Amino acid sequence: MTPTLRVCALYPDLMNIYADRGNLLMLERRCAWRGLGFELTAAGLGAGVDPAAHDLFYLGGGQDRDQRLCALDLVETKRDALHAAAADGKLVLGVCGGYQLLGHGYALADETIPGLGLVDVETIRSQGPRLIGNVAIEVELDDGTRGVLAGFENHAGRTVLGDGAQPLGRVLKGHGNTGTSGVEGVRRGGVIGTYLHGPLLPKNAWFADWLIRRALGAAELAALDDTLENAAHAEARRAAGA
Ligand code: GLN
Repeated sequence: MTPTLRVCALYPDLMNIYADRGNLLMLERRCAWRGLGFELTAAGLGAGVDPAAHDLFYLGGGQDRDQRLCALDLVETKRDALHAAAADGKLVLGVCGGYQLLGHGYALADETIPGLGLVDVETIRSQGPRLIGNVAIEVELDDGTRGVLAGFENHAGRTVLGDGAQPLGRVLKGHGNTGTSGVEGVRRGGVIGTYLHGPLLPKNAWFADWLIRRALGAAELAALDDTLENAAHAEARRAAGA
């Protein structure tokens, strides 16, 4: 049977700022080019999620308003399933607004949007300037894989890691989680959060492949001609100044 990457996109219509949906296209293309199967399920407001039916759960970025809608729905209809998926070693990838919702909550001026509590982070909306610009981080993943991720960030939220929480990477250029902490994102097993848009995966093909490998439990993937992908990565790093 052809190995098939089964992705569940959470709120793809609401949480899709800066073309974050392009991350899904990147996964789909890199599977197709290798003759691997790809299955995409969308789970919108009110929809339940089957933790066993997917290998990777994906939540993109969004405006505070859309994030609020999704957060309430996440907590009500999807929290238990996503905790079960994470406990089972499934991948959960959150980008920007999606990253913030993986944590305990997102505190706005007059209310706190609840989070999934999959990772020990807390986000506070700052009255200070939005953290905007090109960004590059140096990443080390839990299997020892290392690499640089480059992208673009634009967030008002400052995300603070809990005591034992591991960042996704060290900031080479850009703001990262708070603008001052020197770290970016979070990772706990297969649960990964990052502020990097771009979208993230087309600019960082190595990380897309890491996700596919990990999700399929594959030791290796067939090599692809990554001339364009490498050029996109180099350009994103150049833009960040790293
Ligand atoms: N609304 C969130 C913030 O401003 C996330 C923004 C985003 O996803 N780019 O912090």
